[in-house]
Amino acid sequence: MKKDNFIVILGAAESGVGAAILAKEKGFDVFVSDNGTIKEQYKSMLIENNIDFEEGSHNKEKILQASEVIKSPGIRSDAPLVLELLALQTPVISDLEFAARYTNAKLICITGSNGKTTTTLLTYHILKQAGLNVGLAGNVGKSFALQVAHNNYDYYVLEISNFQLDHMYDFKADIAILLNITPDHLDRYEYKFQNYINSKFRILQNMQSNDTFIYCSDDQILIDEIGKRTIDAEKVAFTTTDDQSKQGYLKDNTIYVDLLDKDSFSISINDIQLRGKHNYGNSMAAMLAAKAINIKNEKIRESLQSFQNVEHRLEKMPFLVKGVEFINDSKATNVNSVWYALDSMTKRTIWIAGGTDKGNDYSELFDLAKEKVKALVCLGIDNEKLKKSFGDKIGTIVEAKSMKEAIEKSFQLAEPGDVVLLSPACASFDLFKSYVDRGLQFKQEVRNL
Ligand code: ADP
Repeated sequence: MKKDNFIVILGAAESGVGAAILAKEKGFDVFVSDNGTIKEQYKSMLIENNIDFEEGSHNKEKILQASEVIKSPGIRSDAPLVLELLALQTPVISDLEFAARYTNAKLICITGSNGKTTTTLLTYHILKQAGLNVGLAGNVGKSFALQVAHNNYDYYVLEISNFQLDHMYDFKADIAILLNITPDHLDRYEYKFQNYINSKFRILQNMQSNDTFIYCSDDQILIDEIGKRTIDAEKVAFTTTDDQSKQGYLKDNTIYVDLLDKDSFSISINDIQLRGKHNYGNSMAAMLAAKAINIKNEKIRESLQSFQNVEHRLEKMPFLVKGVEFINDSKATNVNSVWYALDSMTKRTIWIAGGTDKGNDYSELFDLAKEKVKALVCLGIDNEKLKKSFGDKIGTIVEAKSMKEAIEKSFQLAEPGDVVLLSPACASFDLFKSYVDRGLQFKQEVRNL
């Protein structure tokens, strides 16, 4: 039997615990269930707030009594428990859907296959520097629900993943940014790319004509999908070409943004901190969002100049070693992000790649590899696919089984003026705990040289 006003939260990490605290504050009966171990910090938050919870298993009988369930994005939508709940017609929603019910703040929502975190942090930085009362949430920073419970922000910049979007229904973005769509996470979408595309496009649901939809018009998948849909929001396109018919474009090393009823803005790429074509696109998206909410040009300019790129994304080491530069792009876990990394290289490149392959098709990297890569250092347990793919395209290919070995071999292969780039195209779990661990080890080994 379902109970009224009984909210069950599946998964007790940042998003789940935040949602539990907000639900409790709003007067619901709340039960949190995590079949793994709950981190101490989250356990004490639950205890402090008198929230009933379990860990190590799911009490199914109790969970099936829920009037509504908030699911952590880490739990698959086809997990048996979720399917049982859906069969009972129990709504299963994301923490963002839940929290949005309790705020009137303007929501700037960012999604895409690559560049979400960078664009979210840059947009947040611009709004904050402009003096707006703004929160940062979603996949970065503190839980959205917790901030809704404790703060009273006028704006939120939210990084939203497809797994969250899948469980959002009445949520509405005021400004949505869709950066790109390339195949990723297909294992959670029945290996159907269209399902993943549909998931990303949920960012647009409920948007109306006074809302703004910012997207990259260089992405053919986006363009095709937009062509198939009726979109009520105002469409704002950006491109990294010089196509001046778009509201954001790049011409003669200058970024221009021009929104219908706003004054135009331009900045030289030499005046912004972020480097690489993809980052010019990310910057345009953030600038267009800032213009849409009337932030002054001088504030946008200052913020673009002061923004520091996020760790592990084309992060340059602040020194050269015997004339060799080192760049940590450990977060590049798919082929598309490596394409942008290689594209932005201006020196001969020793490329460190490899790890857990997610079904990669390397062919789109072949031309860039031939043009820019002097040597490939394969860093993984199984390097066969990389070696086979690039054997006839890159002159030197060596293997390494640890970051120390990879850095030492790269350094031996490099000459003054070269760059060593870690941009793996793969997940990190064969040799490292995470992409963060892989990036930190890279930086440590470079310091040890
Ligand atoms: P996400 O949060 O979507 O994973 P990040 O900002 O963390 O994106 O960047 C992940 C990786 O993708 C990094 O290697 C980064 O250099 C690369 N990247 C950033 N923006 C883009 C983009 N617009 N297109 C392709 N790759 C990108």
